[in-house]
Amino acid sequence: MNQPKDRAPAPVIVARANHPISRSMISSSALKVLYRLKDAGYQAFLVGGCVRDILIGIEPKDFDVATDASPEEVRRLFRNCRLIGRRFRLAHIRYGQQIIEVATFRAAGDPIDPDADDTDDEPAPEPVSADRVHDDSGRLLRDNRYGTVDQDVWRRDFSCNALYYNIEDFSIWDYVGGVADVKSRTLRLIGDAETRYREDPVRMLRAVRFQAKLGFTLHEGTREPISRLASLLDSIPPARLLDEFQKLFLAGFGRRAFELLVLHRLLEHLFPATAAYLAQEPDGMAARLIRAGLANTDRRVAEDRAVTPMFLFAVLLFGPVSAAAQPRFEAGSQAGQAIAEAVDQVVAEQNRRIGIPKRFSIPMREMLALQPRFHRREGRRALAFVSHPRFRAAYDFLLLRVEAGGEDPAIGRWWTEIQALPPDEQQKRVGAEAGQAGQTAGAGRRRRRRGGRRRKAPATEG
Ligand code: ATP
Ligand code: MG
Repeated sequence: MNQPKDRAPAPVIVARANHPISRSMISSSALKVLYRLKDAGYQAFLVGGCVRDILIGIEPKDFDVATDASPEEVRRLFRNCRLIGRRFRLAHIRYGQQIIEVATFRAAGDPIDPDADDTDDEPAPEPVSADRVHDDSGRLLRDNRYGTVDQDVWRRDFSCNALYYNIEDFSIWDYVGGVADVKSRTLRLIGDAETRYREDPVRMLRAVRFQAKLGFTLHEGTREPISRLASLLDSIPPARLLDEFQKLFLAGFGRRAFELLVLHRLLEHLFPATAAYLAQEPDGMAARLIRAGLANTDRRVAEDRAVTPMFLFAVLLFGPVSAAAQPRFEAGSQAGQAIAEAVDQVVAEQNRRIGIPKRFSIPMREMLALQPRFHRREGRRALAFVSHPRFRAAYDFLLLRVEAGGEDPAIGRWWTEIQALPPDEQQKRVGAEAGQAGQTAGAGRRRRRRGGRRRKAPATEG
């Protein structure tokens, strides 16, 4: 049953009485879209992650609809609709904050990813008719033909993502054994796995993502090719990898995703410098910092608190940054400056893989370069630091370094306490520190010891 063909055999139809999906679990906007399509005489299905998620009892992130109505026909039915995408036009129907994505069935047996298509905010041009185009490695570059539901199914990646919920009679259409795979928590690519990864190497990252998010086990045939084909990721544009990176690390299961990326040898294609560093020091401070940082981010997501890719990049790149800062520091650069330059170097290399937008790399550079300032606990400058716009992020990062064993816990405690004090107490505290520092200034302030003892960068010791 699990083989790609241009036309599928008849689906197994699971009647409403035999599956747990009820309309109360579907967003009212998605239901409106489904019903309006149906009432206008079109087929309308929920498809993809939302069907899968409801089946396993988690709340869907978004609702995708598939239909035999053409994009233009969809637009005519909905006032709140715009068409996006160039090669394939998709309809976005907006209800307040929520967007329901409606895709017309595609004819091709070989699917492409909606994200790989440039479904950006540009208005859609008239569709260009073109057949399928592959590049040398078998990657599917273009596919423009619309089709029927029993063709559309083969463009899906995993069997659990290829279930169609029919609004006509509330049944589930299953062409690929997806219901059984959801039950046994198996992640299985539709068709020949190697071919499917070659068509779109990002599917390897999607495999990791669904494994981490759903706790599914990769089917052997789906797992085996990954480490062998991992280098195909090098051909993916950095911007698309950035998207995928965010889905992997900002959705609450980043810690697990990281371990799986290491296991499948994919990390070295996303973060080459980090992977190389970890290979040298698998249990060092940088490794502990990554694990603590990711666990921390997952916790924040679970608590609905804000998370930023900026912080994650800092966590993931801190090992290579420390390594690049050390020689600069030893050559006499001021610690913050050494770190800032090291960040520039590491980011320039990293941008060849996952592109880090400046809106993340600039604050990251600042946050890391501020780390040595936590060692200065005397006088007005210490107090001024607390009201620095980047203090909060830098402080959170400090605590992470403490947790990873890369910084003296007393320093973390000191900065935690001073923030909680009333202003006059704060003054006293930094005054007291200044007095202490004065007594030991002779040793502490000397830039270079005779005999050339190795200097340790304050923020990079481990
Ligand atoms: P999520 O829970 O993250 O929304 P999802 O399965 O809905 O997961 P999307 O990225 O929203 O994933 O894609 C919607 C559907 O489109 C998928 O379920 C899958 O059927 C199909 N799809 C997405 N990306 C690809 C791809 N690269 N190759 C093949 N099919 C894809
Ligand atoms: Mg989705």
